[in-house]
Amino acid sequence: MKVTYLGTGAAEGIPALFCNCEYCKGVRKRGGAEVRSRSQVLVDGELSVDFPPDAFYHNGVLGADLSAVRYLLVTHSHMDHFYAHDFILRGYKYAFHMTSPTLDIYANAEAAEIFSKCTRRELRESVAQTISVHILRAFEKTQFGGYTVYPLKARHSSQEPFVFLIEKDGKRILHLTDTGLLPEEDYEFLSALGGAPLDLITFDCTFLWNAAQENARHMGLRENAVVLNRLEEIGLADKRTVKVITHFSHNSEPSKKNIRRACKEYGYLAAHDGMSLEL
Ligand SMILES: [Zn+2]
Ligand SMILES: [Zn+2]
Ligand SMILES: [Zn+2]
Repeated sequence: MKVTYLGTGAAEGIPALFCNCEYCKGVRKRGGAEVRSRSQVLVDGELSVDFPPDAFYHNGVLGADLSAVRYLLVTHSHMDHFYAHDFILRGYKYAFHMTSPTLDIYANAEAAEIFSKCTRRELRESVAQTISVHILRAFEKTQFGGYTVYPLKARHSSQEPFVFLIEKDGKRILHLTDTGLLPEEDYEFLSALGGAPLDLITFDCTFLWNAAQENARHMGLRENAVVLNRLEEIGLADKRTVKVITHFSHNSEPSKKNIRRACKEYGYLAAHDGMSLEL
């Protein structure tokens, strides 16, 4: 299983779109891996977790063939995770020789409604016929292609936001953006489901070294460690589990130094735009 982190920034990106804080000004000058676009993760080039406004940049600058995305899992409806307007471009005069002529979108009811609203004015009938939207419900298993997906509950602000357990070819990955500390129901569900330890956990690390408020809707390194510990307790994470932190905000200044220190102290990998892992 190949996992590619195309976008590793929070909603505002880095440098944040309209920000002149010292960190953003510095990144604007330095460029390179500190520039972070909005959330998108590809699995085997054909399954995308989320579809941000920066999908265009992922295709143009990072070289991703987004016409190959057959399945799209939407965590929640925030615009940095689901920019539905772009789907009007998936066909007609805008796209030829698409690798996958069809696209199946799996999302909560709110995101499905946003898809309808955002595409209502410009979506051609010929394009609409190639896109199917399926509504997911928490803890209900969904299968497509060779994938088995369990949507779990996230602690986040949108209506019924999800995090995902994704399984394929004996590999298991847990995708934890956007969320604060996981609800107890998730641990109960995962514990009852059992199975082999995860191959990969992707953590929301919006706050990095900053302290998170109680009941925060994102996580930092301390919260990641709490979640990891709970997953270890129920046998779902062990030494072989790869742990990746992502979804960084300019507010937590994910400089090379701060990121290096996080990786060293916690044993995590820090995602950067375009980073690929083979599991
Ligand atoms: Zn986000
Ligand atoms: Zn800034
Ligand atoms: Zn969000």
